[in-house]
Amino acid sequence: MISSITWTFTGRYFRLSSLFPQNVEMRRLLPVKRVIKQEVDKVEHTAVKVMNLKMYIDGEWKETSEKRPTINPATGEIIGYAAEGNERHVEKAVAAARQAFESGVWSELSAAERATYLFKIADKLEESKEEIAKLETLDNGKTYREAEADVEDAAACFRYYAGLITKPDGQTYNVAAPMQAMVVREPIGVCGLIVPWNYPLLMSVWKMAPALAAGNTIVFKPSEVTPVTPTKLFEILEEVSLPKGVVNLVMGKGDVVGEALVRHKQVDKISFTGGTVTGKRIMRAAAENVTNVSLELGGKSPNVIFADADFDTAVDYALFGIYAGTGQICAAGSRILVEEEIYEKFIEKFVERAQKIKVGPGNNPESEMGPLVSQEHMEKVLTYIEVGKQEGAKLVCGGKKLTEDSLKKGFFVEPTVFADVKPDMRIVQEEIFGPVVTVQKFKGEKEAIKLANDTAYGLAGSVFTNDGAKALRVIKKIRAGITWVNTYHFTFNEAPWGGYKQSGIGRGLGTFGLEEFQEVKQININLDVTPIGWFEN
Ligand code: NDP
Repeated sequence: MISSITWTFTGRYFRLSSLFPQNVEMRRLLPVKRVIKQEVDKVEHTAVKVMNLKMYIDGEWKETSEKRPTINPATGEIIGYAAEGNERHVEKAVAAARQAFESGVWSELSAAERATYLFKIADKLEESKEEIAKLETLDNGKTYREAEADVEDAAACFRYYAGLITKPDGQTYNVAAPMQAMVVREPIGVCGLIVPWNYPLLMSVWKMAPALAAGNTIVFKPSEVTPVTPTKLFEILEEVSLPKGVVNLVMGKGDVVGEALVRHKQVDKISFTGGTVTGKRIMRAAAENVTNVSLELGGKSPNVIFADADFDTAVDYALFGIYAGTGQICAAGSRILVEEEIYEKFIEKFVERAQKIKVGPGNNPESEMGPLVSQEHMEKVLTYIEVGKQEGAKLVCGGKKLTEDSLKKGFFVEPTVFADVKPDMRIVQEEIFGPVVTVQKFKGEKEAIKLANDTAYGLAGSVFTNDGAKALRVIKKIRAGITWVNTYHFTFNEAPWGGYKQSGIGRGLGTFGLEEFQEVKQININLDVTPIGWFEN
């Protein structure tokens, strides 16, 4: 629940007033009144009462004595306080989800009835698009344009699964008479969903929509860095009157609340999106109860550009591939591989355009790239930039935190380019998750493929060429789950999302994403009800 928020932005950029009129309760616990001085041209002032974010367990909003601040990464200002849960909250949430699952209030509804709820959720997301997008921009830092697209995608994802779940499923087999064999799909049970901070709303929905469509009940944990839009999503789930206990929101530290969820005996499935290091830890913890796990993890994806590609298109998509979302996208094209004939020309043009990217607060419509999500993450990215320099890579653009007056309190880092890198450098091998790209030179298809596959990751990859057969030859050799030809980042609810190698296990989205939340049961029916006579006596 988000209460006590009255954002009154004045100025020409946007006006957010009387958000959440249904939640006008004023917080006594946190009577923080702040004046956030918007550093954006023409935006004069903002009076803010911070948001109070609660957990949602068994159909009720739960306050906690401990709270954690959530920060606007464009200004460094506190915009809210989120509940800080612990193992006891996880216990209650899992018990509620288990009870709801066993009772059949959700799992035994017809698929069409569950779909009706999902369609309503989609409608409500769309009705609140502007409000949610603004909240996402404030909490995560992404530009309003990016946040708005996330809300649209989230609504579309609910609609996709609402439609899919009512379509035929299951199979029958022609086996030896008098048997009839069939396979049915069933919900797994209680699902623990754990998501990161880079797409706080959309990642939640990518998991929630198929999990609910399949008839599961859920306990959901957002990243502690970005709890705002997941909380808003739960307000919507409450508004559509999902049966009590079907959806539960717990908040708190990953290694406390997340870990308790993963280790819980009554949790049948863990669906996790986040870093590879955390993914490994989750896999080990889930092994204790042999809990079913899906992992969508990190990436270091290659963007392979051949000399015969349309040059301007390749440069354009290469920029989009790395700097969209401030490079905080798991599938970001963070390793650009360029064929030697156009290597110098490519770097020159790429750098020229990277330097012109307008970096600024997401709520400024002129901003093309927002801040990094947190101070901690910004420091990690800046450390990687230092590592790159020490490793001997050539810094050809960017590399610094932005210090101009209007941005200095935020977590802004320049679009950064390293050239002349070597394959074994840390900046080439490790996920930086920021606006930092490496550019490598290759000669011919064979070397392009070798370099493209030369990391522990295998999430995504792209090829730019005007030779169709070459495009397919190379793509087929790239060991990654999501690939593109002459484009980057586009993905659809219909198509599977996930990685090879250390980028994960399982697939989200599409029919594959639904199957991740279903058990498969074989049913054999004897059509001749007579004894088998196996034993003579
Ligand atoms: P983390 O792995 O740090 O955290 C992800 C989530 O896991 C958070 O909710 C976190 O909680 C929780 N968590 C942390 N430790 C544990 C634990 N021991 N047990 C259970 N849960 C835990 O990732 P980030 O939030 O830093 O997100 C960035 C990463 O996510 C990048 O590596 C990126 O590539 C990846 N990602 C992958 C995507 C994909 O589709 N493959 C999509 C988006 C991002 P808390 O916030 O409290 O730490």
